Amino acid sequence: MTRSMIDIWYEIVKYASVLFLLAGVIITAAYFIRLYSKTNSSDKYEFVSKNQAKYFLYSSFAWIAALAIYANILLQPLLETSGGFEVTVILIVTLIVGFGMGYAAYIYDSLYYSSVVEKRLMDIRFKPRISQSGQKMRLLSEEEEDLHLTDEMIKDEEDLKFEYDVWLDESTGEKYFEKYNIHFHALICDNCEFRTLTSSGEEIVEHPTHEKEGLLLAHYKCANCGYSREVETRIPSLVSDAALV
Ligand SMILES: [Zn+2]
Repeated sequence: MTRSMIDIWYEIVKYASVLFLLAGVIITAAYFIRLYSKTNSSDKYEFVSKNQAKYFLYSSFAWIAALAIYANILLQPLLETSGGFEVTVILIVTLIVGFGMGYAAYIYDSLYYSSVVEKRLMDIRFKPRISQSGQKMRLLSEEEEDLHLTDEMIKDEEDLKFEYDVWLDESTGEKYFEKYNIHFHALICDNCEFRTLTSSGEEIVEHPTHEKEGLLLAHYKCANCGYSREVETRIPSLVSDAALV
């Protein structure tokens, strides 16, 4: 390689690695800005379950790209004394190492990172609530909370649409409802055993009538291996719904 070609190459490499480094920082900053701009727990919960793993993966990719490109600078003495063939080999090896690290980040993200996401979700959901009178509120159990939920809310829970939490200040009776969208919450895949199985939609196969129950089919698809499965949920008949009121 000629001197001027090498100089141009290192200029490109330098700026590209800085650019990728910055991209990683911007992705991470954007995540936290978006997260902390959400004021209520249910919005935070939905945002984290939908986005945290994704943002983490993209910023990892950006930083790995920055590192792999920067490796070219470290290999400078080698590149300068080599011919075209060696330079090609070195670049291919750098690319392979970069992709390898990217794949490792992907595996980490799918396999392990979900537990980090899960922990953040639990922190958001079960963070102690303080009532207006300054008392610590108590989270009601599933059984207790049904007494406070409307029929519509109970139906949402049964249909796996939303999850509700009820917080109670026992001294004043102040109640606080929280609604969570559990749709984006990944399940463990039966096939690859990564926690990458998410809901890809649902359909009512049989509408409930006054005489019989309906059937809801929820579709789950694994983001890692593509495996999909269906979960059937009975929808209470309209008669039994009316009888409950
Ligand atoms: Zn899978």
